[in-house]
Amino acid sequence: MRIDVLTIFPGYFAGPLDTSLVATARARGAVDVRLHDLRDWTTDRHRSVDDAPYGGGAGMVMRGDVLVAAAESVWNDLPPSATVGTAAAPADVDGAPPRYVAGGPRPRTVVFTPRGRPLTQALVRELADEDRLVLVCGRYEGIDERVHELVATDEVSLGDYVLMGGEVAAAAMVEAVVRLLPGVLGNAASAAEESFEGGLLEHPLYTRPPELRGRTVPPVLTSGDHAAVAAWRRARAEERTRAVRPDLLDGTGGAGPEEV
Ligand code: SAM
Repeated sequence: MRIDVLTIFPGYFAGPLDTSLVATARARGAVDVRLHDLRDWTTDRHRSVDDAPYGGGAGMVMRGDVLVAAAESVWNDLPPSATVGTAAAPADVDGAPPRYVAGGPRPRTVVFTPRGRPLTQALVRELADEDRLVLVCGRYEGIDERVHELVATDEVSLGDYVLMGGEVAAAAMVEAVVRLLPGVLGNAASAAEESFEGGLLEHPLYTRPPELRGRTVPPVLTSGDHAAVAAWRRARAEERTRAVRPDLLDGTGGAGPEEV
């Protein structure tokens, strides 16, 4: 899978991309993550990606021309020079029309916004089946509405709160998607048994020592009876889900509002 991230802070991703399983997956070629600095598509000497909102009001808005040019470059593997400052659709380096243009067919492109579809395991699974993802991180007061219309195939929210930018949402999505890619997890079964798979939260987990501050491990887990262990885990998962996330059991949670 290839993932392109459009951001004004590519340096933000140094930690998430270079740590643990994501770093290993990149080194093995399971995922190719490419970071793009949106300022490479600006036209002024200050490299401005934002401007004042039409109609007035507080804060600045991310410019649509910069974001559309960046998306068309990345979708078509064109250098910034091929699209920067273009009000109309760009030609590629040979003068042929590009394959993907804003408002037309385009690779799966996620624009992060608090109003988007919640990032759930169901959405992560869907995205993990794609060959390509393009992730667009907003900043400031948000992004010119025309980018949502012309560039986004998906609008995704990390949750019902307002972040300073989309980078943390993009990092979360990359991590959640990459761990589902073939060969990334040592044990593929662990992904299938985790929280939200099958509509349940995960059962409780225990490891050594057998006793911790007076609390012991449930005896069934050391019984060697695999059927009993499986039944115990299923019952605890149902019990826990009913207690803290009953919405997952009645089918209204974990999938996002459009799937309700
Ligand atoms: N004014 C916007 C609003 O009220 O919805 C919030 C803008 S926020 C300060 C700037 C950027 O951060 C957004 O364009 C978006 O890309 C990102 N962002 C903020 N909260 C987010 C969330 N919950 N999920 C995904 N992205 C978020």
